Amino acid sequence: MFTIGAVIYIGLLFTKLSHILISPLNVFFRSLRPKGALVTIVDIEEAEAFGVSKIEDFIWKQLLDLDACTRCGRCQDSCPAYLSQKPLSPKKVILDLKALLLERSKAKSPDNNGRALIGEAILEDEIWSCTACRSCQEHCPAFIEHIDKLIDMRRNLVMEQAQMPETVTGTLRSIETRGHPWRGTMATRMDWTEGLDIKHISEAPDAEFLYWVGCTAALDDRNQKVAIALSKLLQAAGIKFAILGDEESCCGDPARRMGNEYLFQLQALKNIETLTKYNVRKIVTACPHGYNTLKNEYPEFGGKFEVVHHTELLAELLWSGRLQITRGEHGIVTYHDSCYLGRHNDIYEQPRRILSAIPELTPVEMVRNRREGFCCGAGGGRCWMEETIGVRISHLRVEEALKIQAQILATACPLCLIMFDDAIKAKDAEESLKVMDLAEIANEYCIIRPT
Ligand code: SF4
Ligand code: SF4
Repeated sequence: MFTIGAVIYIGLLFTKLSHILISPLNVFFRSLRPKGALVTIVDIEEAEAFGVSKIEDFIWKQLLDLDACTRCGRCQDSCPAYLSQKPLSPKKVILDLKALLLERSKAKSPDNNGRALIGEAILEDEIWSCTACRSCQEHCPAFIEHIDKLIDMRRNLVMEQAQMPETVTGTLRSIETRGHPWRGTMATRMDWTEGLDIKHISEAPDAEFLYWVGCTAALDDRNQKVAIALSKLLQAAGIKFAILGDEESCCGDPARRMGNEYLFQLQALKNIETLTKYNVRKIVTACPHGYNTLKNEYPEFGGKFEVVHHTELLAELLWSGRLQITRGEHGIVTYHDSCYLGRHNDIYEQPRRILSAIPELTPVEMVRNRREGFCCGAGGGRCWMEETIGVRISHLRVEEALKIQAQILATACPLCLIMFDDAIKAKDAEESLKVMDLAEIANEYCIIRPT
């Protein structure tokens, strides 16, 4: 009986039907990590090689993924890179990796390396086109993990071969030398606080929350307005909070997703040390990337904090009456789900609760929303890379907002805000559509603060 089963199994492995056996196995062995956490390179100081340069370097579960693919194409159908004519299809990546694995298994000599993994089976432009938006994985019925494989190849390119787009080199260097990815800015992390009574954590040891401002809200002109709006709302609600100011450093999300795991781990350890020094327990942030990194990735390095996104906190403050809405604003608003808040962390309803609490403002959904939400194009470190191939992902999303005649495109992520601000300008649509963070909408339009 066993022999017959084994023969059928081995026979199926080499046919197009192998997925019938492997898919259920793959579902059984699916990752139990938090959805937003990338795989860590443990003992990085001792590692002899970084990332994956040969098909054999993938671990057994990554290879099992290749056999589990049913070729259904759902990953490709929702991939923003593919839909914007970039040279990346998550389905094709899996099938190309499987083809390479088969080639290797049939090679007559182990010395015959055949086609190279990076550059031949998978092109560098494919590897760099991914926004790590998680749409492929969210739609895959076989629980195949595309992102880790692409990041493993980026790790090899960056840490082994020092081969990457110039913009990636510049961004990583900026994080390394200045603690943030925004090359060229002269702003400091304290500039936006001018005129506001915001304390450094050392002056407010009784603060309930540490406000993790994030590099973009602290240093980008447009996003500084969000930091100001959120601070005013927290002050109005009587929330005691403080910031790290110049002691805050990049959370490491861009470095990790660009493939520099070493730099990410340095940033994580440095920030955890600072947060621990000030005995921080609760953190609020308006950046879904910082939220995801601090909440889901820092625990592996000893940083265990209660992390909330500002939309969670604002929804709670409105629900409890600590913030009150007394007037509305006529208009159509549509909420754009940030990939790192939505698909990576399942926060879909709190942002919508903030909008629906505002009288006269009419929330309308874009066709692709919640789990189906379409990326802005900035994740996976893409915010700091050139987007020269195909159409811009942010333009496709803004077109969806224009199609439903939205007047406000509401966001809850500093990177989405930057991408859409640029896209609206590029499309000459400033007269009909503006992009605002939910904190700005709450603060500028609709909140009367309890006295
Ligand atoms: S993570 Fe997003 S961009 Fe990357 S392959 Fe998957 S769907 Fe495409
Ligand atoms: S969604 Fe999953 S099973 Fe379907 S083609 Fe993509 S990787 Fe294969």
